Amino acid sequence: MSITPAEVADKAPGLTIDGEVVTTSTVNSVINPATGEVFISVPDAGVEHLETAVAAARRAAPSWRELGIAARQEIVLRVVEVIRANIDELAMLVTLEQGKPLAKAAGEIDSGLRGLTRYASTDIPVEIYRDNNDEFIEIRREPVGVVGAITAWNYPLLLALWKIGPALVTGNTIILKPSPLTPVATLRLGELLQQVLPAGVLQVLSGGDDLGRAMTAHPGINKITFTGSERAGKSIMSGAGPTLKRLTLELGGNDAGIVLDDVDVAAMANDLYWAALSNCGAVCAGLKRLYVPAHLASEIEEALAEVAKTVKVGNGLDEGVDMGPIQNLAQLQKVRGYVDDAAACGADVYFRGEIPDGPGYFHPVTLVRGVDDTVPLVKEEQFGPVLPILTYTDIDDVVARANDSDLGLGSSVWSTDEGRAVGVANRLESGTTWVNQHPVLTSDVPFGGIKQSGLGVEQSIHGILEYTNFRVLRVKR
Ligand code: NAD
Repeated sequence: MSITPAEVADKAPGLTIDGEVVTTSTVNSVINPATGEVFISVPDAGVEHLETAVAAARRAAPSWRELGIAARQEIVLRVVEVIRANIDELAMLVTLEQGKPLAKAAGEIDSGLRGLTRYASTDIPVEIYRDNNDEFIEIRREPVGVVGAITAWNYPLLLALWKIGPALVTGNTIILKPSPLTPVATLRLGELLQQVLPAGVLQVLSGGDDLGRAMTAHPGINKITFTGSERAGKSIMSGAGPTLKRLTLELGGNDAGIVLDDVDVAAMANDLYWAALSNCGAVCAGLKRLYVPAHLASEIEEALAEVAKTVKVGNGLDEGVDMGPIQNLAQLQKVRGYVDDAAACGADVYFRGEIPDGPGYFHPVTLVRGVDDTVPLVKEEQFGPVLPILTYTDIDDVVARANDSDLGLGSSVWSTDEGRAVGVANRLESGTTWVNQHPVLTSDVPFGGIKQSGLGVEQSIHGILEYTNFRVLRVKR
């Protein structure tokens, strides 16, 4: 470990506004979920900081836009270099504030960097739509102006980079607000990126939900790109109404996975387990309800328990840990409540893994069977290390049960027969349906939810273009 937890916790990052590091008179404490104790305090930005940030972003916007895409993409590649050079420190901060194992924190950042590198080489097309004796028509994409980016606590830096990359490449300036539960690595990112970004291009403000609401209402911000809960997404959609902001909303999911009866249980069990339970179950498009053929249920349940037994839960800083704590106490209590409630309704909690003794927001890996679709553990997005396993006997019935949700982020089908799996996959209502995997996201493929899982997409040229407006030039000849 080239940097120690004490070293990173010793230098609290500030806000970044107009290229400067800014401190505030009030601060927020950030808890390390592996210990349950405060490890650092960070600035708490108020309305006055938002005003300064918006003014700086607006001032910086014209020259950033006029630089042109090639120059901006060069700078984005320098952003990648700066982050790479500081990945140990940033990963350590993610582990301290989020709880995930250090290698997975580094993996999260690495995945974000792969996205930035791709955005830095994606061309934004200019279309000459008509060029004849009567008319010349050119259709271009132009930046929306100032983007407000608001992120959640499950992947603090990955979510931030997924927004920073496309916003910068397309010529926007940004105000980024991380979750108040995991603000530290994002604030430090803001400081580091001032080495390569012109002042005012990226501001980072830490603060609570009120700051997010103020960003949503602010007339100087042209678009909100948001990753978080369905509840906050709906509030943002109504808050953005008076200023008619552009919106991209990546919200929650309650993804169903359907195992078909031809499956090779032994070959699939490990992938199925991690589809549901990576990142301590806090993955928006993780598998959250598993439907299995009734006659294969015991075999699948046992195979999942065998994988679960190998998973080491502990402090993400410790060697060999596969899963950290739940990120915050409220979420831990919520997840416990879902399991207790399911048990009270007659569910069989047939596997509970081990957790470390002592403090920290640890929850055992928990496998639950004998539940029906009506219990909150199945009906709602539980976002914890718990997997309810449900049985079916009829494929039409299970498709209807999988689709019986207001959410539609992802879904999956598991089978040895690709054609058959695709047939079922095409009947599922979600933004993405995977076959024999879940969730796999890459920056070249659009990702977004249908129904109440969101609006618009991130990733790929389609996600990048959400940071632009159409601009049509129409010349009469
Ligand atoms: P959250 O909605 O409580 O908070 C997310 C962010 O929104 C935070 O920065 C918060 O301060 C801010 N916020 C809260 N209320 C707001 C409001 N009314 N106006 C403006 N900003 C507001 O979510 P969370 O608990 O941090 O994250 C968990 C949720 O995020 C889960 O539902 C999960 O599925 C979802 N999520 C979705 C994706 C995706 O890509 N679809 C990815 C990760 C997480």
